Amino acid sequence: MNYIDVILPLPLQKLFTYSITEAEASFLRVGMRVAVPFGKSKIYTGLVHRIHTSKPLVYEAKDIHQILDEEPIINAQQLAFWEWISSYYMCTLGDVMRAALPSAFLLESETIISKNNQKEILDEELLDDEFLVYEALQHQSSLKIQDLMNILDRKNVLPVIKRLLEKEAIHLQEEIYEKYKPKWVRYVRLHPNFSSEAALQAVLEELNRAPKQKQVVMTLFMLTAKTKKPIKVTELTEASEASSAIVKTLIDKGILEEYHIQTDRVTYSGEENEASKKLNEYQNTALKEIKESFEKHSVTLLHGVTSSGKTEIYVKLIEEALAKGKQVLYLLPEIALTTQLVTRLQNYFGEQVSVFHSKYSIHERVEVYHNLLDNSAKAQIILGARSSIFLPFSNLGLIIVDEEHEQSFKQFDPAPRYHARDSAVVLANIHKAKTLLGSATPSLESYFNAKQNKYGFVALSTRFNDVLMPEIELVDLKDKYKRKKMKGHFSDRLIEEMTETLKEGQQIILFQNRRGFSPIVECVTCGNAPQCPNCDVSLTYHQYRNQLRCHYCGYQAAMLQTCGACGSPEIDSKGFGTEQIEIEVKQLFPDHKVARMDLDTTRGKYGYEKIITSFEQQEVDILVGTQMLTKGLDFRNVNLVGIMNADNMLNFPDFRAHERSFQLMLQVSGRAGRTEKRGRVLIQTYNPYHKILQQVSTNDYASMFKEQMDERYFFKYPPVYRLIKITLKHKDYNRVNMAADWYAQSLRQVFGDFVLGPEFPPVARIRNQYHKNIIVKIPSKQSLAKTKETIIRIDNSFNAVKDFRSVRVILNVDNY
Ligand code: ADP
Ligand code: ZN
Ligand code: ZN
Repeated sequence: MNYIDVILPLPLQKLFTYSITEAEASFLRVGMRVAVPFGKSKIYTGLVHRIHTSKPLVYEAKDIHQILDEEPIINAQQLAFWEWISSYYMCTLGDVMRAALPSAFLLESETIISKNNQKEILDEELLDDEFLVYEALQHQSSLKIQDLMNILDRKNVLPVIKRLLEKEAIHLQEEIYEKYKPKWVRYVRLHPNFSSEAALQAVLEELNRAPKQKQVVMTLFMLTAKTKKPIKVTELTEASEASSAIVKTLIDKGILEEYHIQTDRVTYSGEENEASKKLNEYQNTALKEIKESFEKHSVTLLHGVTSSGKTEIYVKLIEEALAKGKQVLYLLPEIALTTQLVTRLQNYFGEQVSVFHSKYSIHERVEVYHNLLDNSAKAQIILGARSSIFLPFSNLGLIIVDEEHEQSFKQFDPAPRYHARDSAVVLANIHKAKTLLGSATPSLESYFNAKQNKYGFVALSTRFNDVLMPEIELVDLKDKYKRKKMKGHFSDRLIEEMTETLKEGQQIILFQNRRGFSPIVECVTCGNAPQCPNCDVSLTYHQYRNQLRCHYCGYQAAMLQTCGACGSPEIDSKGFGTEQIEIEVKQLFPDHKVARMDLDTTRGKYGYEKIITSFEQQEVDILVGTQMLTKGLDFRNVNLVGIMNADNMLNFPDFRAHERSFQLMLQVSGRAGRTEKRGRVLIQTYNPYHKILQQVSTNDYASMFKEQMDERYFFKYPPVYRLIKITLKHKDYNRVNMAADWYAQSLRQVFGDFVLGPEFPPVARIRNQYHKNIIVKIPSKQSLAKTKETIIRIDNSFNAVKDFRSVRVILNVDNY
């Protein structure tokens, strides 16, 4: 008898065993997919983990339905990596599988199938069973797998789906994103035929009879003389006060020539730079040190100030890895994956770069996956967000984790709750590859690892071209309010600097760490603040839509006319968010263009890209935004950054609040003055003597590190201690209390005082579920593996208690 153990994309503790025939046994290999029955009538896509001949003891092994692959779709290195993720982050292999494979690989009975209306399919292109399904979809907008089984009167329907997908006849339920395209802008120039003086004279004479057209050509000369930059069609029509029809006539006549540039290239002087840049002496030294460090350490931290030219160093390292025939993974926080960087790398490496991005359609993601599986030339460099660590690399030589301090490398929900930076280090080790962590503001844990000599360390402290670090000024809000020097949320100093900057034709970024108009709406008479019905949190006012919204569950309601409790019409808004700042700026500077960048304005397909592009093109003078603004953007013309209020970051109830504030403020500051002129940063605060603000204003990472580490030692927090957070969730308040007490008590019996809680988080109820947290602190000498074993044992006993079975338990390793 032959059997296979199969990973199912479900949170099951154990692998399931199925029986296979002799023929199947000789065909199957580990890493291939099979369709298998599970439960009463469900079918899942499973992955072969082991092929063997031992019959399961406690259940009758079912037969598989179907083999889905000819070749394995995951390799041995991936499987080893999955096992590590599952054991380190305390989740099942099924959880990892679901995160690791593009959803198109995981057909299952819950999948909803619909017709692809974009594609015309002729009946004769379809086989009989395909036709039956396709026809059913003409009458019903969507079908489930079970429906297909009924239609075809058989259980094994996945192959039909697979074939229909290949013919592009159907869609699976999934958000379909459009292709990710950089924006192209239309430019005009004089046709090269007229570059000679004589030809030009002739044309101008000819145009004497068409004064409007002549006007356009003359304006183009004027503009070209003034600036070396390419001239946009829109600029020309505006400056010459001509219609675009006239420009078009000139293009049709062959006098002007139209061309397109990818917007990002404009920033990089419009040249197609095929060769990578020659490094300056600081960069060269850093590069040399990184290479030396790699001889001793598999991980190296590059601490390079903003705009020091880290990316160009990465490029050199990538070139070397490619030359050795190795693959490269370049990890970035999702939001920093802008066309800016993509284009920059494509300029150097062309087709060898593949981007793996959640904005991509499933088709594109599957394509990247297959390219890697085939080790295709197209996928030698993967530029991707955290989930790209799961791609089928076979020959990795280098992983770069840029902006390594970014919190978004950590996945919070659902499991696996992995940290992509830390996992990348393990992935690199599996491949015997090197990892470079880069940041202008390293996380304490990476810097600590470097100090401990666990990681190598290289510093780069001069900005490229010796551009000075911006000058940072702290503005005391308490004093400004007292002396009535405030207009709305703007101090006189900020207004002065803004006026000056705009006068010089430069741009401004204003940073406010909150979206919405004002976080809290409160009745002046009785003090009542409208609450979310599903969560224990006050609703946020969004003026643009005159709505109240919950930032936890997305609940929305119209703004109140009168207080819900006492009926008073006097409703006050406290605090302020990006939306209000935007409105105030528009009042202060009515002649300038203002844009806002936060979760609300960047929701659309290209929302984020669009705002960045118009700011880059200097169509916008002042950009107001949340921390989205901090992510490695390179704007040439920004000379002033205003941080509206540093205090709400600093006072955030989290042990990393100070570290994060430091990182955030220095990163936003780094957007100022990236060219010759020294940039300026104004930080408004009630607390200008706060140590973190002093450290930010002197760019003193070392002091920040030292002080924060003292606190981490003292209060027993990472990186000195490790943390595992256990969250219990239930809709019944009493039950969650009882369950959490039981859990915490069991943990205390083993770990004593290293157990904190149970405690309700600041927002205790979210989507009608009460949450309660327990934290286990693990001293560095205590075995992490043993600790986890103990927790799993306690968790198993917990699940055996009948009353607790409906309580959801979430284990989060390194939950910060
Ligand atoms: P970082 O990643 O450290 O913030 P970047 O790599 O983005 O810095 O470099 C900042 C700017 O300096 C970019 O516009 C980049 O093109 C330019 N730059 C960096 N190194 C060089 C170099 N060696 N030659 C020419 N330009 C460079
Ligand atoms: Zn009231
Ligand atoms: Zn809510």
